[in-house]
Amino acid sequence: MRDASEHRYLIGLGSNCRVPGIGAPRAVLASAAGALADEGWRVEALSRLADSAPVGPSQRRYANAAAVIAGDLRPPDALQSLQHIERTFGRERRGQRWRSRTLDLDIVLWSGGMWRTPGLSIPHPLFRERDFVLHPAAQIAPHWRDPVTGLTIRQLAARLSRPLRTE
Ligand code: ADP
Ligand code: MG
Repeated sequence: MRDASEHRYLIGLGSNCRVPGIGAPRAVLASAAGALADEGWRVEALSRLADSAPVGPSQRRYANAAAVIAGDLRPPDALQSLQHIERTFGRERRGQRWRSRTLDLDIVLWSGGMWRTPGLSIPHPLFRERDFVLHPAAQIAPHWRDPVTGLTIRQLAARLSRPLRTE
């Protein structure tokens, strides 16, 4: 039986620049999965690595992936743990929002449902519109339900690849 204090998270991983000593974005993501384990997370599933077109002015391709991780940290501490990993990969928070980033780790869904405090919203507010999140997530957590819309990841991913219905 599962420990009642265990928390499970669906996270999105992204990278669009090289990290000295590690390599290109895909290598960064593979290494980030190892860093999650080193931080004490149990990495239960990791999607394939996907490439996607860049967003904003940095004009580099992104590598993206999704992971299901489990541990005993509640959402604010989980975010701190992920941000600590981002920093170890050399990500800087200064400057423009869409600058090149070595590693971005976002909490998409949480086993406890919804969470909203300053600086942290779960589900991630934009994940339903982002194919680069939903596509990898659908490989590893197709039946996980978004508590806001009631739709599964698979349904949300399918909805993105179809034209919107007008009712
Ligand atoms: P991006 O939106 O591109 O991921 P950042 O990674 O710089 O941008 O995140 C900006 C801020 O978003 C973080 O400092 C964090 O406090 C906040 N945030 C709110 N909700 C979430 C979430 N679900 N996962 C990760 N960060 C979040
Ligand atoms: Mg982020």
